[in-house]
Amino acid sequence: MKTVDEYLPFAEAISRYEPVIGLEVHVELGTASKMFCGCSTAFGAAPNTQVCPVCLGLPGSLPVVNAMAVESTIRIGLALNC
Ligand SMILES: [Zn+2]
Repeated sequence: MKTVDEYLPFAEAISRYEPVIGLEVHVELGTASKMFCGCSTAFGAAPNTQVCPVCLGLPGSLPVVNAMAVESTIRIGLALNC
């Protein structure tokens, strides 16, 4: 384990490196179906009843993007000036 004196001093680190900070933001869209398949997103359904080969990630299944989710995502991005 390093002692505090073995770490790069803050001032030297700032002079040598440019801090780049990114944010990853998750939101829940109000779509009726999932992002990559037509399965319902209705709350309260019995477990494992709103699934298909796509959202189970089964081999050979091909996702299809939810157009309403894309539109909603673009709209909220524009509204928040992102
Ligand atoms: Zn599905």
